[in-house]
Amino acid sequence: MSTATADFAHTRHAETNRQRKANALAAAAANLGLQPYELKVIGSTAVEAEQRRRVRRTAGLDRDPSVETWMLALGYLEARAAGLPGARQCTACGAFVLQVVTEHDQRLLIDPYPHATGTVWPVAAPAGRRSGKSARVLAGHDERPDDQPLYRQHTASCPAAPPRPRSRSRAALCGECGLPLDQVLAERDPTYTTHPKCDPREEVRPP
Ligand SMILES: [Zn+2]
Ligand SMILES: [Zn+2]
Repeated sequence: MSTATADFAHTRHAETNRQRKANALAAAAANLGLQPYELKVIGSTAVEAEQRRRVRRTAGLDRDPSVETWMLALGYLEARAAGLPGARQCTACGAFVLQVVTEHDQRLLIDPYPHATGTVWPVAAPAGRRSGKSARVLAGHDERPDDQPLYRQHTASCPAAPPRPRSRSRAALCGECGLPLDQVLAERDPTYTTHPKCDPREEVRPP
């Protein structure tokens, strides 16, 4: 065997090995219901690094794979989700998600794989409804069905989702137009419930 042939065989073996590991990592991440952006390889946070350790252990790899192997794995993970029937991209972050319709006819984006903290599970669409995928959303008091796959709402994991509003004081909205009021005024003055220009009483007042 010439040196060139030996080198080629070695390179090909390494490449096959990397693909095998990347496939195992992608399968493990999908099993854990994780999205590629939760496993960031470069400039990752402590949380993302810990998620990757979980994925690596689930994949049965005892050493941390190279950055190249991780990048390949995240590519495989994204391609898997993109290939699911009905997959679409989140307009905010570009991740592949699925759309379901709740019992209350609300459209909901969910992450592509079930997750330990999921609250949405697919159910058979009611007869006569055109939309394909129907789903039920678990309320706080509902018992978690342990025999059902539970998916996360995509907004729970979307890296581009707006930060959740502070729970303490909900933003006060104008009673007429529904748009936010001046929050400082609303907190001080309980009678300030509409924008002055929206208030119908304002019109009959003499100039
Ligand atoms: Zn998103
Ligand atoms: Zn208004």
